[in-house]
Amino acid sequence: MKPLGEVTGASLPERVQAAVDAAAQHAEAVDREGRFPIEGIEALRDGRLLGLAVPAELGGEGAGLADLAPICTALGGACASTAMVFAMHHICLANLIDCGLESPWHRELMHRAATDQLLFASSTTEAGVGGDLRQSICAVEAEGERFNLAKAAPVISYGEETDAIFATARRDPDAPSSDQVLCVLLSDQYELERVSTWDALGMRGTCSHGFRFKASAPTEQILPRPFADIAAESMIAGSHILWSSVWCGIAADAMAKAQAFVIAEARKSPGTPPVSATKLAEAYARYRTIEATIADALGRWAAMRAAPERAATVGFSLAMNALKVSVSTIALQVVEDCLMICGLQGYKNTGPYGLGRHLRDIHSARLMISNDRIMAGAGQMMLIQRSPAARRA
Ligand SMILES: Cc1cc2nc3c(=O)[nH]c(=O)nc-3n(C[C@H](O)[C@H](O)[C@H](O)COP(=O)(O)OP(=O)(O)OC[C@H]3O[C@@H](n4cnc5c(N)ncnc54)[C@H](O)[C@@H]3O)c2cc1C
Repeated sequence: MKPLGEVTGASLPERVQAAVDAAAQHAEAVDREGRFPIEGIEALRDGRLLGLAVPAELGGEGAGLADLAPICTALGGACASTAMVFAMHHICLANLIDCGLESPWHRELMHRAATDQLLFASSTTEAGVGGDLRQSICAVEAEGERFNLAKAAPVISYGEETDAIFATARRDPDAPSSDQVLCVLLSDQYELERVSTWDALGMRGTCSHGFRFKASAPTEQILPRPFADIAAESMIAGSHILWSSVWCGIAADAMAKAQAFVIAEARKSPGTPPVSATKLAEAYARYRTIEATIADALGRWAAMRAAPERAATVGFSLAMNALKVSVSTIALQVVEDCLMICGLQGYKNTGPYGLGRHLRDIHSARLMISNDRIMAGAGQMMLIQRSPAARRA
């Protein structure tokens, strides 16, 4: 296969920019109408960006998290819903690549993901366990070479637009709630009955409706590793890095608006810096901690993957949880800082400095696997982790 740059006649930055432009152009309408960001996703498809992480020998470009994170940030500044769809899709793809390279069925799906630019969605949240990723009530029910699965899913983002759903479930009906597997189900192998509609404060274009999900598929489609390992070694870190990158993009765009506002104020009274300039510098200081935290996480991720055993230590898991909790909290503070800087101009839904959509979208960050839940788990880990001071000694 030819390099994708030749196929599409454009470089990676040009392809990303085209998708960013399309997403930005329709962001207001996507938010207002609470509809799927089809224009941004089609532009990602046209730029061959949905298969970016697929290994080159299977038709992709072998992109890693360090390549994907800045794309999430660029998209996040344009349309947070498009960015979150791109991030969630790539988290599913990363699971497929991490666990499926030895399995012919999963290799073929990777190939199709690149050539047909398939879109993947995920169903981990379940009625009765909420956002606890590591518990399932539903179970795989095997019948010979096939299995059935029925799940009450309070949210599946873009469930009606996806080509496949990656669903967690107990290994079998007798398994404990934490003995889970990750099942890959193609859109012609399941039925989705919508039970609730996503009319939400923000991230409205993710169309995260609630469903009764019923599937039947060959057992070979279940990823051949326990979900406990997938979650610990790749999914949680990948999710937290890519989600944080999306939130960084929302904060970056809010910063850009606030800076433009301060510059416009400064032009009105040359020689007298506006009071808001100091606030802008404070917001920038906060914003920089977001960028630095993501860069640190990417460094830890690269080091973990380069280690021969590729095992996530307690320290690594704590760092990835800290990343999610701090970026989701600080990004909200940055957007609020920017609102204070722009004042009424930021509060208005019209005009160049409007920050309503940013503020509503960023409020999802602390809930998307609740920070309280993450900190409760991290608290348990802190009991067995040596303190930072002891590690330096
Ligand atoms: C934009 C968006 C898109 C999403 N897309 C998907 C998707 O595609 N697929 C999917 O499966 N899920 C998706 N989710 C769901 C998400 O991953 C979480 O599961 C969900 O946000 C958690 O919802 P909850 O707060 O109702 O539930 P819970 O996690 O059950 O939390 C309920 C409440 O209990 C508190 N709580 C829970 N545990 C503890 C604890 N141990 N200590 C203290 N307090 C606790 C929480 O703070 C919260 O107030 C999406 C969420 C958002 C916001």
